[in-house]
Amino acid sequence: MKVVAKFGPESAGLIDKPDPVAEGEFVVVKIYSAPMCTEYKGFKNEGTGDRFGHEAAGEVVEIAQEGTVKIGDRVVVMPHYPCGKCYLCLAGEYAHCRDDQQAPNVPEQAGMTATYAQYILKRDWQLVPIPEGISYHHAGMACCGLGSTFNAMRLMNVNALDTVLIAGLGPIGLGGVINAVYRGAHVIAVESHPYRAALAKKLGAAAVVNPQDADVVDQIRDLTGGSGVDKGIECSAASEAVRLLIDITRPKGHIALIGGVREVAIQGGEIINKGLTLHGTRHYDLPSTPAMMRMITQVKPQLDTFITHSFPMRQIQEAWALQCTHDCGKVVLDPWA
Ligand SMILES: [Zn+2]
Ligand SMILES: [Zn+2]
Repeated sequence: MKVVAKFGPESAGLIDKPDPVAEGEFVVVKIYSAPMCTEYKGFKNEGTGDRFGHEAAGEVVEIAQEGTVKIGDRVVVMPHYPCGKCYLCLAGEYAHCRDDQQAPNVPEQAGMTATYAQYILKRDWQLVPIPEGISYHHAGMACCGLGSTFNAMRLMNVNALDTVLIAGLGPIGLGGVINAVYRGAHVIAVESHPYRAALAKKLGAAAVVNPQDADVVDQIRDLTGGSGVDKGIECSAASEAVRLLIDITRPKGHIALIGGVREVAIQGGEIINKGLTLHGTRHYDLPSTPAMMRMITQVKPQLDTFITHSFPMRQIQEAWALQCTHDCGKVVLDPWA
């Protein structure tokens, strides 16, 4: 099969690898859509490798035993390689499994876990059926495109009475706009990049403020009648964004952290006195997958706006170069084009 490899700074292409073989509960999925995530961040560095990507949608083409899927099933491939046995996995909360590197236990198959590839090995219970009428590209948005913020909204119970602040409009934050608008919330976003600010407005954000403005806190206060936002989601990985969310979320409000902020100084009193609730969130639980698929059937036009570019996988170099400019929303690869 063809697989994406990176050969050096700004140099990438395809290499050949043996096709994976189904084994135990690991089945082979033929990938038809591989949404791109943050892998581009290493495009310009010295690093090399041939295991990129963790989001996919495709068709089950080989199984080794009776299980939860059969050959021909159209499925979304959920991320991670969790143990499947701990209390978190059994509750469907496998994204928080403490033992999530459980790839197939055969050396020559251990690398068959990347999605920038024509096939992948995955445990059958991590494959979510795609309802009829949903395309592979749309279904693939059930991974990071919509998934991370879907879970944040679920944890904070975002609804039509809320004003939600989304800090950072990369593909995760833009997917957050779709989620929040779907739930009827009023959305304010924070982003300096003009292309992405414009895209967020197309997706239904009521306002987009620039974090580089000195008076950004006052602007958001004005937009909320002085009260601050009810709920906020950090999708930028910038520590300043956490600072902003703590400052601008109203007393008793909720904040969800997704963006992987490394370090941020918080005074305990800031959280305690305002009675804020902080949520750490990572992907979403299995019991929520039917709701996710229902949402996808309802937001297809928004997904067509969100997915701004689609490349044949052999054009990986162009795709990564585009992502580096940030002049894009979600970008998807087609491994067979
Ligand atoms: Zn587990
Ligand atoms: Zn991702």
